[in-house]
Parts: sequence; structure tokens; C-alpha cells
Amino acid sequence: MGLMTPQQYKESLNDGRVIYYKGERVENVTTHPDLAQCANLMALDYGMAEDPQYRDIAVMTDPDTGEEISRYYHKPTNSEDLLKAYELIVKATELGDGYIPLAHDIGADALNAISITTHNMGEAGKEYHQRIEDYRRHLKATDIATCAGVTDVKGNRMLRPSDPKQSHPDFYVRKVKETKEGIIVRGAKVHITGAAYCNDIFVIPCRQMTENDADYAVAFSIPANTPGIRQICRPFTAHISPLEFPNTRPVRVHTDSLIIFDDVLVPWDRVFLNGEWQHAATMVYNFALMHRRTGCAYRVPMSEQFLGLGAAIAEYNGIANAPHVKEKLTELVLYLETLRSLSKAACYDFVMHGEIAVPNPVSTNIAKYHFATKYHDVVRIIQDLAGGLLVTAPTYKDFKHPDLHDDIKKYLGGNSAVSTEKRLRMFDLIRRLTSDDLETIALHGEGSPFGQRMTVLMEARHIIKKCKKIAEELAEV
Ligand SMILES: Cc1cc2nc3c(=O)[nH]c(=O)nc-3n(C[C@H](O)[C@H](O)[C@H](O)COP(=O)(O)OP(=O)(O)OC[C@H]3O[C@@H](n4cnc5c(N)ncnc54)[C@H](O)[C@@H]3O)c2cc1C
Repeated sequence: MGLMTPQQYKESLNDGRVIYYKGERVENVTTHPDLAQCANLMALDYGMAEDPQYRDIAVMTDPDTGEEISRYYHKPTNSEDLLKAYELIVKATELGDGYIPLAHDIGADALNAISITTHNMGEAGKEYHQRIEDYRRHLKATDIATCAGVTDVKGNRMLRPSDPKQSHPDFYVRKVKETKEGIIVRGAKVHITGAAYCNDIFVIPCRQMTENDADYAVAFSIPANTPGIRQICRPFTAHISPLEFPNTRPVRVHTDSLIIFDDVLVPWDRVFLNGEWQHAATMVYNFALMHRRTGCAYRVPMSEQFLGLGAAIAEYNGIANAPHVKEKLTELVLYLETLRSLSKAACYDFVMHGEIAVPNPVSTNIAKYHFATKYHDVVRIIQDLAGGLLVTAPTYKDFKHPDLHDDIKKYLGGNSAVSTEKRLRMFDLIRRLTSDDLETIALHGEGSPFGQRMTVLMEARHIIKKCKKIAEELAEV
């Protein structure tokens, strides 16, 4: 018990879980050639706790027990807690070279969202609140890795979970039975990042529910190796093609699972919502809020990379001082610094939801909306600055070929102060970091942009009211 070492974390994953990858059953995710990279990335989170350089930010003393715990599982109650968690995620993402370790952060967002909801439920939520706070103590004591299964497969998006017009009743995870031991659940969650190499999976509803949907209003946590759980993982480009300049960084180091719950028993002490349909919306709303702050923190180091790509390729092409290029680099700076400022401001200007400090809902949602909807503009700028060689340049193998090397070196040079090899390597990196996969992640990860617009409008009601009053006073009406 206590903080896990990277080795202990990896060993804990060899637990008989049912994982499929590229059509094959995976015996042990930590020895699989692709998935081992994901587990190694997650282990960075555990490594930070051991490293004197990062220990102060990754580890804190539990105010309740005096024990050392992961900062992620601490209950945030003020702006300092929110800011430190933000800085921890930024640092972890930097250490992952822009890839996110996420052994604790998404799970912590679900943990806090459940705690806020059960607290707000008052008497009806008392037992659930006790259970989730007991579970928080368990997470602090064991330091296990957690993820969040929120998004259901949903079927027809315009129909409610219980609508008989859905072609079957299992498009949203639901309770099918209660027993003495707990509830039996069936359904599937989709896109669940890191679930294949987490210890426990949080499950919460992904939408508002009505009375008819009561069986779908369930929240719980469950070990990934529980009988009846199967995961189908989406492949990722784990290895750089031999046609590219050698680089240790793959295109993406995570897989997202389709998790099937085939009549899975969830013991009572891990059930945090069971039919209270009125509270499903609060839970998913608070998860989205906490998780958008987390998502913004991931994106700060990634946006620094983008600014770096733009600046580097402009210099390598010899165009850095052209007026239109300066304009484009300014756009990249605005993108990065708007994101950074809004993300930090949301932590300073926090609000209390029950016992928990949450980032300011308006600025967090604007920050997420900003990075998602401007992402494609940023990619376009970098691709524009790079030029067509981004997709037509000869390969690394051509560059290494003795008959071709000198020609490529001579004809594909740009700025004479920069070697041709450097320029070609940068093209490879830009191609990888601006790939279609990453564009979709920016758009839909942490929720599609329309969700942020809806939340901003809802949360800005008091701002709109105040501003309308100002206008009316000015008009003397
Ligand atoms: C890489 C990646 C990682 C992710 N990781 C996680 C994770 O770890 N955990 C997790 O729970 N989720 C995760 N997600 C899920 C993410 O939150 C969802 O992709 C997002 O909420 C959109 O849901 P969807 O993909 O089902 O798309 P859809 O909901 O099908 O959305 C497609 C379009 O339909 C619109 N739409 C949907 N419903 C309606 C409606 N009723 N009325 C009108 N318009 C509608 C949307 O606005 C959008 O424009 C991840 C997603 C990605 C891409």
C-alpha cells in the first residue's frame, strides 16, 4: 500500500483482463509490442512521484492522514489545489513529449464529479457520498490507475436511452438486475482512453436522463479484470515507418477502448448512483467541467510544440522575416497564450460545487472551445509555412541511398544555415503531429464543441443579464 512504483504499476496490469487489439487477444498489455508503450507512458506518472525533481508537484501530504499521496486524488478545495493539479498535468505532458501519461487525471475528474453530485443529493445521496469518499481513501492508499467511461455508444443520438425506437435497449450502460451482492450492468462505453492499462474504470452516465431512463442512471467503479468486461482497443501508429527519419516518438501513444459490459456484477460498495435519474446531468456536467480543465492542461505543451514547428520550418525555409510569415507566427502565439491564460484564469477564478473547488465554468469551456475550434487553423498555418515537400519529399531510405544522397542534399536545401537533413526531419515531424487522428482528438476529446457553446451560454446567464441592464441604463429605458 502507498504510492506505487512504475514497476509495481506495470506488474499490477497482468491480471487476466480481457483485451483485444488488432483482432487478437492480448495476454499481457505490458509485454505487447504496441500496448507496452502505452503502459510505459502511464508509468511516467508513477516515475514523477519518485523523481526528486518532480516529487513536490506530484506528491503531497494527505491533510486527513498525514500520509504521502498522489496529488491527483486529493479533493481540491481552493485555487492553489486547482493550479497545482493543472501544473502537474502540464509537466507530465511535457515529460511525455506531448503525450499524456493520464494514469490518474481522468479518473480523478470522475471521482470529483461523483463526489460533488452525491454531496448535492443531500439525504438521498448520503450513503453514495460515504461510498465515494471511502473509495477516494482507497485510491489514495493504493495509488492505482483509473480512467473514466463516460461516453456511451448511444445508437440513434436523437433518441433517449429508454426510447423503444432504439433498435435495442443496450446503447447506454444500464442496470439489468439487483442482487444481494450489488447491481448487474450491461451495455458498452466507447472511446475510453487508457482503459486497457488502468486498474479501475469509473462509469458515469453521459447525458441527462428522464424517469423512464432510471435504469440508465448508474455510476460505479470496477476493476478492469472483472468477469464480463471485454475491451476492444483501437490501433495506433506505435512505430515510425522505416521510410521516415528515425525518431523514438510514435504518432500517438494511447489506445481508446470499446468496453463491453456483459452482465457485470458491481458490488454495492462501488455503486455511486443507482436509478436517481434527476442527478445524472449534474454528474456528467461536473465531469465535463473538471475534465475540460484537464484537457486544456494537456494542450498547453502540445500548442508549444505547434508554435515551435511553425517557427522552425519558417526558419529552415528561409522565410522567417517575410511579413505574412510573421503574421502567421503571431496567430500561433495568440493560440497558445490565449489557451494558457484562460486555463490558469479558470483555476484562480474557481467556484465551489459543494465541498469541491471547480475551475470557472465559463473560462474553462471557452478555453476548450478555443483550442478545439482553432486547432485546424493552426494546422493549416503550419502546413502552409512548410510547403508541399511536407507530402512529396523523398523518404529517409532515399536520403540514405549512396546514389541519391548528394542530389537530395543539394536540391532540397532551404536556408543555407540549416542542413537539408534537419529540414527533412522537421517535415516528418510536422506530418506526424498534424495528422488527421490528432485533428479528431482535438475536436471531440473532452466533448464536441457544441457542448462547450451550450455550457458557456448557460453559465453566462448572469453575465448576459448584467450586461443587458447596463445597456438599458445607458438607453434610459
Ligand atoms: C481520442 C478520443 C479520446 C476520448 N476519450 C474518452 C474517454 O477517455 N472517456 C470518455 O468517456 N469519452 C472519451 N472520448 C469521447 C468524447 O467525449 C466524445 O467523442 C464526444 O463526446 C463526442 O461523442 P461521439 O464521439 O459519440 O460523437 P457524437 O455524439 O455522435 O457527435 C457527433 C456529432 O453529433 C452531434 N450530436 C450528438 N448528439 C446530438 C443530439 N442529440 N442532437 C443534436 N446533435 C447531436 C454532436 O454535436 C456532433 O457534432 C474520447 C474521444 C476521442 C476522440
